[in-house]
Amino acid sequence: MFEEKDGLLKRELPLVSGKESGCATVVEIGEGESRVAIGGGHFAMIAGPCSVESESQIISLAHAVKAAGANLLRGGAFKPRTSPYDFQGMGIEGLRLLVKAKEETGLPIVSEIMSEKYLDYFIENVDLIQIGSRNMQNFELLKALGRVRKPVMLKRGFSSTIREWLLSAEYLLSGGNSQVILCERGIRGFDSLTRNVLDLSAVPLVKRLSHLPVMVDPSHGTGRSDLVPTMAVAAVAAGADAIMVEVHDNPGEALSDGFQSLTPDQLADLCRRIEPVLNIR
Ligand code: PEP
Ligand code: MN
Repeated sequence: MFEEKDGLLKRELPLVSGKESGCATVVEIGEGESRVAIGGGHFAMIAGPCSVESESQIISLAHAVKAAGANLLRGGAFKPRTSPYDFQGMGIEGLRLLVKAKEETGLPIVSEIMSEKYLDYFIENVDLIQIGSRNMQNFELLKALGRVRKPVMLKRGFSSTIREWLLSAEYLLSGGNSQVILCERGIRGFDSLTRNVLDLSAVPLVKRLSHLPVMVDPSHGTGRSDLVPTMAVAAVAAGADAIMVEVHDNPGEALSDGFQSLTPDQLADLCRRIEPVLNIR
């Protein structure tokens, strides 16, 4: 039976399953007035462009996503691109611009780390450090982030099982970092009409197996902006503690992932659709 299977997996995950009391972990992000809590009944909307592209882009989008209802600003500075000829991100300059956007709007910032080389800079400047799908099993990076005392968001590898994903989270927790959020972002399927198969069953299952908060990214999960709002609402209904979506003021001109990016108006509409679902769960 599934209870037996779940029990066996939980034994492999003493810290991720942990907390006999059944208490949900609440991850606190940022400082002061704009501090945001995720988990244990606290919900957050994370939004921003796939890539930071320029100062004017990130500053205006930061204001726009805040006005639309987002609590955290995401922006990629180091981009894991399949092709070496595609835009690789602005790097440290991108992080500097994100910090500027945070200073202007008060929104805590989320960005992906790809190399331990920049860890000190991320610890200093980024409020929630993202480990992307491609690095979910970069064990040296996991060990390094296990040693820091900063919230980490661990995306599911696009070809990883739930067991592998949770064992990667166990690396972070066993290193001493308890501020971990899991992010379902879709797994590879066989259908070319969508980019990935967004595994929403992972949300209630992981919440049964673990006390850690679960986020859902329907942008990478579907790869299509027309499907993002519906799947975001469905993720909230399934129990997600946070949603992360890509937003661009001109998706057709985005340097990466424009086809799956919402406009700020569409984000505002999504936030309105999520509200009643949050109230009934
Ligand atoms: C991203 O969030 O921009 C990203 C690259 O996501 P993933 O690691 O899920 O592909
Ligand atoms: Mn992207």
